[in-house]
Amino acid sequence: MIKLENVSYTYMKGGPFEKKALDNVSLEVRPGEFIGVIGHTGSGKSTMIQMLNGLLKPSEGRVFIDGTDINDKGVNLRDIRFKVGLVMQYPEYQLFEETVLKDISFGPANMGLPREEVEERARFAANMVGLNDSLLEKSPFDLSGGQKRRAAIAGVLAMEPKILILDEPTAGLDPAGRDEILFKIRDMHKRMNLTVLLVSHSMEDVAKLADRILVMNGGHVEMFDTPDKVFCKSGRLQEIGLNVPQITRVMDRLREAGIDVPGGIYTTGDAY
Ligand code: ADP
Repeated sequence: MIKLENVSYTYMKGGPFEKKALDNVSLEVRPGEFIGVIGHTGSGKSTMIQMLNGLLKPSEGRVFIDGTDINDKGVNLRDIRFKVGLVMQYPEYQLFEETVLKDISFGPANMGLPREEVEERARFAANMVGLNDSLLEKSPFDLSGGQKRRAAIAGVLAMEPKILILDEPTAGLDPAGRDEILFKIRDMHKRMNLTVLLVSHSMEDVAKLADRILVMNGGHVEMFDTPDKVFCKSGRLQEIGLNVPQITRVMDRLREAGIDVPGGIYTTGDAY
């Protein structure tokens, strides 16, 4: 359902600060998969996800959603954006309506749906992210940090996307807020059969939740495999700058779960 074919992207092409952020990326994601996306800062994760709903257009290559090249002439990107919901980092900064309900309703209202359906969708989405009815008439600014984040996610969910992409949805939240959001994402994925792409700095979260992990490195796909296979290559993860204590903790957890994860982390000398 998602397919990138030889996708490259260069920022400020031709200028003195030209930067190739994606370099010949090809990958496919199947319907209903939960994909974790990890990689060092600057490895191209945000650029890659912005390709998926047409916010950025590839400099080279093609992006397909459900078999449609989304950058073809004649494709309405509005339709693609209803299908591919993107929750950017710190989405709560985009809350602006008088009430939480109105904020969550904003997307579906813009889809031209009848008012009753807009409200029904907004209430359903609020329920999915665990915001109870008593909060819906409040100002978004009266919510806690975690509640605001959930309201922002509900706003995307209310458009009933088939694909939900989240860029660091737990950044800046306290541990309870983090766990709540992750639990809700897992729950939505299961109950709504959503395809999820979760970009995260936390390899532990991703290893727990994802069917497959996409490891980005310097603008290309370093690995794209199941968590156990990815963490078998712990030396390589270390080499590309991922956090060693985190890698070690994930490996320990996989081993506790009875999964054979050969190899180890080296704290001195070469990674292998
Ligand atoms: P990540 O999300 O993995 O941190 P990004 O996709 O944000 O990586 O960035 C990939 C590369 O592109 C980095 O070298 C970054 O500095 C560069 N980059 C990102 N956004 C811009 C931009 N708006 N203008 C110029 N360079 C950018």
